[in-house]
Amino acid sequence: MASKITLVDQDSPADRAGLRAGQILLSIDGTSIRDVLDYKFYSYDAKLVLKIQDEDGAVCDIPVHKHEGEPLGLTFEHYLMDGMKQCSNKCVFCFIDQLPKGMRETLYVKDDDARMSFLMGNYISMTNLSEADVDRILRMHISPVNISVQTTNPELRVKMLQNKRAGEALQIMNRFAEGGITMNCQLVVCKGLNDGEELRRSLRDLKALYPAVSTISVVPFGMTNHREGLYALEPTTSESAGEVLDIVEPFADECLQELGTRLVWCGDELYLKAGRPLRDTEYYEDFTQFENGIGMLPLFMEEFRLALPDYKGRTARPFTIATGQAAAPSLALLLDEAAAKCDNLRGQVVAIRNDFFGQLVSVAGLVTGQDLVKQLKGRELGERVLISANMLRDGGDVFLDDMTPQQVSVELGVPIVPVEIDGADLLCKIFED
Ligand code: SF4
Repeated sequence: MASKITLVDQDSPADRAGLRAGQILLSIDGTSIRDVLDYKFYSYDAKLVLKIQDEDGAVCDIPVHKHEGEPLGLTFEHYLMDGMKQCSNKCVFCFIDQLPKGMRETLYVKDDDARMSFLMGNYISMTNLSEADVDRILRMHISPVNISVQTTNPELRVKMLQNKRAGEALQIMNRFAEGGITMNCQLVVCKGLNDGEELRRSLRDLKALYPAVSTISVVPFGMTNHREGLYALEPTTSESAGEVLDIVEPFADECLQELGTRLVWCGDELYLKAGRPLRDTEYYEDFTQFENGIGMLPLFMEEFRLALPDYKGRTARPFTIATGQAAAPSLALLLDEAAAKCDNLRGQVVAIRNDFFGQLVSVAGLVTGQDLVKQLKGRELGERVLISANMLRDGGDVFLDDMTPQQVSVELGVPIVPVEIDGADLLCKIFED
């Protein structure tokens, strides 16, 4: 699908060649450009001929000279240059299916698009990959691909994803491995379904695809209060989280001995739910699956501790840190350590109960504006409330329930200060003048 150019970067190869916003890119070196992956792949070479259509319909060829691999400098009307592929599953654990009604429309969008995996790190189930999609990933060597595996048992995968293609789609991973595509895999563990022996089997099968399977994350299923009419799943308990750790950790140790990498890591949430100590940051090697909450809290705590000596003896205006129930004890521990080094550090950590999604949801990133207001209003908050920036949509303008930081701030009578997922940034915000 041809896509309209909306921006030409100044002094970019496209700019120097005379391209301008409003034109349409039809092809590069005779190959029609279907989407952003075609665009990135076919624009790699140093000498290109772009077929361009003007606003009046006239078509012309424009030669472009640039360095090999240098971006052309074009932005298109739609990021992918064509429509996003929607998910064709109905996973029993899907968080989107458990959202309350009436939230903003974009939150209900279920994408399952291999291009977003490559470009943005999204995870795909492979159930809607056509033969042409697989061929293209292999031909263009689109790597790494992030895959939501859940289980390597084909029948169980059909049951968990509620998609009859889910079992056979696993075979695509063998083709990716043969084609040299790197895969980062995720297993969302649901109690009584893909845990226990099934988890052991999945880990063994994925390990057999190493080094193509480069990392595996194991994370708990997140359960909200909005599961009417959905598959009856049991919540992750302290005991079941511990059982998962008892399977994964020894397996990771074996991998370390045999392969030189642990290969598989559990999400921080499993340690917190099980009431077990977090691992040191060295445990997580390259933090490849950091965005999935793998090693995020240990790294945050280490960053905080490393930066703390810089603030010795400093004073800070009184503050409140509002976070989810899961991370609150760790943040309170950090605050105690800071108070021991800095006189007059008047701050507190408040654990926000998640009434919006349900009390089994305890991560900071899913705390809403209305829960902050309900649970903080009337309390002594100091001069500002520090929150995790991941409570807000990209751009920092709105919480999941559409309240803005400004609205929450007006309700509470103090500014809301977002903090990046970075322990050093928390210290910086605490001691900000
Ligand atoms: S793949 Fe499964 S979990 Fe992901 S959006 Fe689709 S139904 Fe939901």
